[in-house]
Amino acid sequence: MGIYAVMAREVNGHRQSAEEPCHLLPPRHFSIRKDSNMTDTVVYKDYLGIPRKLIPWFPTIDEELCSNCGLCVKACKHGTYAVSENPDRVIVADPYACEVYCESCRFQCPVGAISFPDRKAFKLIFKELRKQYPPAE
Ligand code: SF4
Ligand code: SF4
Repeated sequence: MGIYAVMAREVNGHRQSAEEPCHLLPPRHFSIRKDSNMTDTVVYKDYLGIPRKLIPWFPTIDEELCSNCGLCVKACKHGTYAVSENPDRVIVADPYACEVYCESCRFQCPVGAISFPDRKAFKLIFKELRKQYPPAE
């Protein structure tokens, strides 16, 4: 179960493999309140029983490479990206909205500006979190 649980996820009853683009999934049933400071007020659904905000999986944009084309904003159906107002730039606005193990936006970026954590290193972190938050019996 261990590795399989990490490499697959279930959203609204749909089991998704790590390779399946997240935009093909049905919307998550998160409880979201969009007040003034989004990341402080959004309630994230746990991932496999682990609080989402403890899981360091989200995209990073290399600002030197990014051309602000907006393709990643369109690619992500979870609102991870947004366009900031001053300066007018594409940013990772809601990192914990990102689906753990999805990387579909990375493949949309024409200049390779999007990166994610190294999967091997991330698995070790996840394993430690698993010890703190074991699967429900
Ligand atoms: S930000 Fe996360 S959820 Fe959104 S497309 Fe990229 S990897 Fe998928
Ligand atoms: S797809 Fe790449 S280049 Fe385009 S806005 Fe996103 S990070 Fe920047």
